[in-house]
Amino acid sequence: MDSIVNSKRSRAKSAAPAQPERPTREQAEAAVRTLISWAGDDPDREGLRATPERVVRAYEEWFSGYKDHPRDYLKRTFEETGGYDEVVVLRDIRFESFCEHHMAPIIGRVHIGYLPRNRVVGISKLARLVDVYARRLQIQEKMTAEIATCIDEVLKPHGVAIVAEATHQCMTTRGIHKTGVTMVTSRMLGVFRDHAETRQEFLSAIGLRGAAQVANGGG
Ligand SMILES: [Zn+2]
Repeated sequence: MDSIVNSKRSRAKSAAPAQPERPTREQAEAAVRTLISWAGDDPDREGLRATPERVVRAYEEWFSGYKDHPRDYLKRTFEETGGYDEVVVLRDIRFESFCEHHMAPIIGRVHIGYLPRNRVVGISKLARLVDVYARRLQIQEKMTAEIATCIDEVLKPHGVAIVAEATHQCMTTRGIHKTGVTMVTSRMLGVFRDHAETRQEFLSAIGLRGAAQVANGGG
C-alpha cells in the first residue's frame, strides 16, 4: 500500500521533454565553429575543418535519449513472474551522461533493485532504460529519481531501489579539480524505503552497505 502512495507522490515526467524549435544541422555546426573560435583556435584550419560535422554527429549519439519514451518501452516488455517473489538486483550498469550545468561527461554505474509484484522485465531492458535517461543533459540526482519513478509506475512493484555512483568531469577536469571523488545518489521507494531490512539486502547485494542512506533522495 505504501508504494502506491509513494508512486503518486513522486510522479515525474519520463517522456522526452518537449522540444523547443529545433535548429537545423547547419545551425548546429555553425555553433560548434563559434565555440572553436571562442576557445581560441581557427575553425578553418585543416585539422578542424570537419570537426563541427563530427561533433554534431556525436551529439546525435550522446543525446539520443531525447528520442525515446522509456515508459512505453518498458510497458511492452513485461513478463509474468511465475511466482518469483524475491528482490531482483541488477548491479554495475555502466552509464555515460552529460551534466546539464557544464555539458561535461558524467561517467558511472547504476544499480537497480526491485521487488516484483506481478511482472518482471529482462535485464537488457533495464540497462536500456538507464541509457535513455543518461543520454540527455542531466544531473545525477534527477536521473536517479527518473529511473526509479519509471520502474515504479510501469512495473508497479512492491518497491524500487536505485543507487548511482559516478564521477563528474566538470569536477575532475576544471573548477575544483577533485579527482577520485565519486558522487553517490539513491532513490528508495516502497518496501526499500519503508523496511530497513529490505534496503540492507539491496545495499549489501551491491556492496554498499549503509552508504546509500546518506544520499537518499527518497523522502
Ligand atoms: Zn557540471
